Amino acid sequence: MTATRWLAEYAWLPGHAEPTADVLIEAEDGRITAVTPLVGSGRPAAGVEVLGDAVRLPGLTVPGLANAHSHAFHRALRGRTHGGRGDFWSWRDVMYSVAARLDPDSYLALARAAYAEMALAGITCVGEFHYLHHAPDGTPYADPNAMSAALVEAAAHAGVRITLLDTAYLTASVDGDPLVGPQRRFGDGNALRWAERVAAFRPEDDHARVGAAIHSVRAVPAGQLATVASLADRAGVPLHVHLSEQPAENDACRAVHGCTPTRLLADHGVLGRHTTAVHATHPTGADVALLGESRTGVCLCPTTERDLADGIGPARRMAEAGSPLSLGSDSHAVVDLFEEARAVELDERLRTRRRGHFTAAELVTAATVGGHAALGWGDAGRLSVGDRADLVTVRLDSARTAGVPPVGAFFAATAADVTNVVVDGRTVVADGRHLTVDVPAELRAAIEEVTS
Ligand SMILES: [Zn+2]
Repeated sequence: MTATRWLAEYAWLPGHAEPTADVLIEAEDGRITAVTPLVGSGRPAAGVEVLGDAVRLPGLTVPGLANAHSHAFHRALRGRTHGGRGDFWSWRDVMYSVAARLDPDSYLALARAAYAEMALAGITCVGEFHYLHHAPDGTPYADPNAMSAALVEAAAHAGVRITLLDTAYLTASVDGDPLVGPQRRFGDGNALRWAERVAAFRPEDDHARVGAAIHSVRAVPAGQLATVASLADRAGVPLHVHLSEQPAENDACRAVHGCTPTRLLADHGVLGRHTTAVHATHPTGADVALLGESRTGVCLCPTTERDLADGIGPARRMAEAGSPLSLGSDSHAVVDLFEEARAVELDERLRTRRRGHFTAAELVTAATVGGHAALGWGDAGRLSVGDRADLVTVRLDSARTAGVPPVGAFFAATAADVTNVVVDGRTVVADGRHLTVDVPAELRAAIEEVTS
């Protein structure tokens, strides 16, 4: 890979409250080697001949966005679950009908298209919370990790990095009911067998890492939580868990275990700085303290939480208690991390009827370095020397962003305003077009395959 230089009209540099004008960013072998604000540096300003080989990036350039919570196959459900009434549980029945249709080939096609849509939206790294492990009747494929391999390959085709969060999903309820029907393909029987399968999956490509996940306290019995947690701990990989998305989960956990899901996870060694709780929509005050004191991260998925009528989590309180925040598009009803980021602030306003809970810089942090850290990529998400050269450029001359000051871009831009995306020094999106995937055509074909 050769050295590359970009000249950003504005760039959001780490630790800055707002973007800086005219920043020269240089990279070699996929790593940032220099970040130079030209104004006041003594170096020539924009347009001068010596910068002739630099790629111009008009608009605002931010670090790569990390989508810390994805279920790729949910993309097939977009627009198909809005016809009637219902709640999370009725939505889940529709979701299961798509899950039942997938095999490694069709999942590769669907995930490739879904991840390419993410790349178009400026997402350079995805955390795939993956539990479609086996054939529909629960029989392992000849390669027991064929579905994981399909997702890793899909990310490579789409040009994004992936943390494959291999998910333990063993039971259908907090009571320990067995998996039935479409859930059978999720299960490995017990946590030890899950761990054996995960240990056998070692993607060789640099764009992929393997992490662990506990689907929820509904899906992993209390006595097996520590087995999953210790595997993640020994391997030094991220551990994610759906937590208190629904009040019903809290009620069931109290009825069976006499405590909240957060308390149960704490008692079994699941919480900690390598753990990310996804949603945390309905924590108690004590839960917020447990999460914060243990430095457990929280991944908020506001567009999904609104789509599924989950509720609004106490984002500010959790951040103040000590939980680093990240963002996920989860069900992909919307793939737009600008929308997720501003929703963290706007939902807090709805909840409290006050404005101004998060600064723009805090929202950018959650969307970039916060998400990458939650996915185990500690060297990504900042425009700083040594970090991975991930650059996402947002135009400031669209109908949505014209006249908006660069600091306000996260409150105005949509995914459609992303013009240029660089991942590990390689351009994946230019002029708003994915360079290798015809995203709308591939989405249409892949979704038709699993829904018709
Ligand atoms: Zn989820």
